Amino acid sequence: MKDKDVAQYIKEERARQRRACNLIASENYVSADVLSALGSVFVNKYAEGYPAARYYGGNEVADKIELLAEERALALFTLSPKKWSVNVQPLSGSPANLAVYLALVPKGGKIMGMELASGGHLTHGQRVSVTGIIWRQIPYGVDKKTEWLNYDALEQLAKKESPDIIVAGFTAYPRKINFKKFRKIADACGAYLLVDMSHIAGLVAGGVHPSPFPYADIVTTTTHKTLRGPRAALIFSKKDSRNLPAKINKAVFPGLQGGPHMNQIASVAVALNEAAQPPFKAYVRQVIKNARILAQELQKNGFRIISGGTDTHLLLVDVWRGGSGIGGKEASERLETAGIIVNKNTIPFDTRPPKDPSGIRLGTAAETTCGKKEKDFKQIAARIARILKR
Ligand SMILES: *Cc1c(COP(=O)(O)O)cnc(C)c1O
Repeated sequence: MKDKDVAQYIKEERARQRRACNLIASENYVSADVLSALGSVFVNKYAEGYPAARYYGGNEVADKIELLAEERALALFTLSPKKWSVNVQPLSGSPANLAVYLALVPKGGKIMGMELASGGHLTHGQRVSVTGIIWRQIPYGVDKKTEWLNYDALEQLAKKESPDIIVAGFTAYPRKINFKKFRKIADACGAYLLVDMSHIAGLVAGGVHPSPFPYADIVTTTTHKTLRGPRAALIFSKKDSRNLPAKINKAVFPGLQGGPHMNQIASVAVALNEAAQPPFKAYVRQVIKNARILAQELQKNGFRIISGGTDTHLLLVDVWRGGSGIGGKEASERLETAGIIVNKNTIPFDTRPPKDPSGIRLGTAAETTCGKKEKDFKQIAARIARILKR
């Protein structure tokens, strides 16, 4: 690279990533092939519109790559193109969710989504997000005692509020989600069911988390978390008499975006193919084993794990109560000084402010990509305990 300044920072960032013990639950490390497609000549191409219906010339190859990405996305989740459609153009998870609401929820309508403090995402109707400005959030949380979802309480809330759409799928909820129960709740109030599987998409693809597809109307996902692709997102919509795919496509373009990032789409296609190979199944199984061990070992060291453990790649540790008696801010800073990268996180019913909450969130997806196994995570747990209990 001729640009010495940028080349230097890329070198520094690569070294930082190699050095770090990365426990950020939403991050991962992509393959050289994913990276190479992302840095390919597709970056030069404008392709506003959809395959065979573009507003620019010269799109014969762009059409092929977009159709390939669509085909692979459906195949990865064993979806028939007769029953499901996928839009591979969303630039990231937040615009994907925004496109869904734009397509399906009238202005001022109600989005029933999990509140931020319990593990919901900003784009599930949170006040500071555009999704909470244009629409109104009907917030839900977890059960105060168990810290698990309480589906009966959700059904009562849904019947009382009659939301337009219910969002299932979270940013910091460590337990398996019962999509069948969410379907029943959506049916009880006539709402669409959107499953945002951003965090767990890789787990679903690898068969270690139940699939939302038998139950959801729409499924969104980022491609850069457990799915191990570039930063991007997908929107799957069910094909039936409601015409959902056409509404979604119109909302993505021209509703929300201009030209799709064709290099990103090429890279997504590579990642989807990687996730369809047998080693990916072994990878996600190891991700789960590692998370379970990490939770158990931290519990042995006296830490309180939210909800009592984890079924997925992530866990929330209450470092304030029953932990080390420090807040999440100090905990994450101390860990960073020791080379362990985590994020501070609110816990359900947190009594501390979001800037210095009671918890930290840990995930095993990135370090499992680097080859770490149970014995390594036992050591990581011991290191975390030593650093936080000083
Ligand atoms: C990460 C995430 C998003 C947003 O993705 P960005 O690519 O950061 O915009 C949306 N929903 C959930 C549940 C997520 O975890």
